Amino acid sequence: MLKIKLNSLKTKLYVYFTVLSLSSILILGSLSVYLSFKTSLNNILSIQTNLNSLKTKETELVLTNLIETLKIIIPQNYTEIAHIPFDQYKINFIKILNQIISQFPNLLEITYIDLNGQEIIKFIRDNNQIQESLRLDNLSPLQLFQEAKKARIKISEVHYTLNGPLIEIFVPVQTKDNVVIAVLMAKFFLNDIIEIIKKSQLGSSGYTYLLDENNYLIAHSQINHHLNLNFSSVINKTKPNNLIVYNNFGKKVYGSYLVFNLTNWKMVSEWPVNEANQLIFRQIYLIIFVVILVGIISFFASIIFINYIIKPINLIKESAQNVGSGRFEKIKETKADEEIKILIEEFNKMVDGLIQLQKLKDEFVFLASHELKAPVSALKGYLTLILDGTIGKIDEVAREYLLKMKSSTERLLQLVHDLLEISRAESGALKVKTEPINIEEAIKTAIEELKPLAQEKNIEIKYQPLEKITQVIGDLERLKEVMINFISNALKYNYENGKVEIFHEIKNDELITHIKDTGFGIPKDQQEKIFQKFFRAQSKLTENIQGTGLGLFIVKQLIEKMNGRVWFVSEEGQGSIFSFSLKIAKEA
Ligand code: ADP
Repeated sequence: MLKIKLNSLKTKLYVYFTVLSLSSILILGSLSVYLSFKTSLNNILSIQTNLNSLKTKETELVLTNLIETLKIIIPQNYTEIAHIPFDQYKINFIKILNQIISQFPNLLEITYIDLNGQEIIKFIRDNNQIQESLRLDNLSPLQLFQEAKKARIKISEVHYTLNGPLIEIFVPVQTKDNVVIAVLMAKFFLNDIIEIIKKSQLGSSGYTYLLDENNYLIAHSQINHHLNLNFSSVINKTKPNNLIVYNNFGKKVYGSYLVFNLTNWKMVSEWPVNEANQLIFRQIYLIIFVVILVGIISFFASIIFINYIIKPINLIKESAQNVGSGRFEKIKETKADEEIKILIEEFNKMVDGLIQLQKLKDEFVFLASHELKAPVSALKGYLTLILDGTIGKIDEVAREYLLKMKSSTERLLQLVHDLLEISRAESGALKVKTEPINIEEAIKTAIEELKPLAQEKNIEIKYQPLEKITQVIGDLERLKEVMINFISNALKYNYENGKVEIFHEIKNDELITHIKDTGFGIPKDQQEKIFQKFFRAQSKLTENIQGTGLGLFIVKQLIEKMNGRVWFVSEEGQGSIFSFSLKIAKEA
């Protein structure tokens, strides 16, 4: 199961990196989405502006083409032609006007008007036939004519006829020295311009349309028949070359327009928001994809980085735990950065120092216990002699005190013995034989030796020997020590009237011996330390029980030297089962 420790460095680093990378990715992502949205809007605007200006240029070209043709300049000065009778060059103008109307199929009428406003020559197109009209009017009241007389080119408002929209163009006829001698007026159908608008394309559903100066529709790329359609509401909303979103024909569109220099007409482009936005969303999806990809990459990169940092820290932590539990092991060279390397070096120096200290302590303990052994043994010997009455009679009070002294001396001797064993075990000088032995003998001797202790607490010791005598590999004397230790613990840490059972089990090539008691058991949280030197489980029940905490440590060393293993199971208040295995000796 995944364990999350909220206060661990690893979790904090994960949280830190996740917050850091997520927030920067989110900020960058939203910024790019915003910028891309802006850029896309600009792109849409520039696509529309380009289209508008292209269509405007094409339209204006049609008009200027006609105007240029109508701009007739007589190659003489006014004084040179003033005296020439009009009829002489009327013939020329008839030719010119006829030519012009034939050249432009969309010209409905072309008229030569003198400075009094009187129509002099007039050609009209009727059912594709060009005829000279005999109905000649006076146009002097017309404002546009008056303007043209002042050497200005004038274009009328658009007139919407059943045959289509048309305009009137008034162009002055001038002499070489810029004197206006007449005005040409042409009525022109806007068919060419309608064609230009029809041919415009904006995405697959965008469209363009042309409005006159009063915002009436002249031509539309998608609408064919129309009359009196006014778009003032759209135009009044915005300025030229500005992109805005509005509803047109029930659809949301991006719209922008351009105003003509020549005529004040407007070229408008509209692009349904749905389609135009696809352009935007395509970019935004790409950004989101990249953001997710970067997020995933930085997530994995941070995992690698965090593990890279945590690994040596964990290594040092485990090594420190080892040192804490008495295993003085140095950290092997690992690939690490400078700071960690220094930390490892310092740690190893500390371990060296501890090993040195341990050695000194061991030597001291060995020397002290070795030197203590002889005088304490002598003390015990003399006390035995006195208590035996060999030296003389002693009174009861003195005997009582001497008995207490003897018991303390025995405990002291046991401690000295244990300390010496430990010193030997640690220096490798502990000698243990590995030969075929009879385990039952060791067990029975130990039981025999501990009978008085068992009787004191009225504990029954039950031993179930194997049906068939089985020999194991070990050291008989040492095994007796081991059994005395196990059984005395089973008695010491037991209730009065308790029970101790000893039985065997054969598993593969091993003989397992179990020592089961009905005693206090060992609290769960103290169990892992049970085989450590000087460790004694703490509880109310064991408070007054004498011991050194060295027995099980020595037992473990001895059994392992005999190539066996030791373990136990224990339940507080229920009892314990201590077990050890030894190799079964192969029969000769
Ligand atoms: P000592 O008995 O001298 O304290 P040991 O090394 O023999 O030292 O045992 C270590 C500790 O393990 C004991 O202090 C005791 O708390 C616990 N212990 C050992 N055997 C038993 C047992 N059979 N039942 C309960 N506790 C035990």
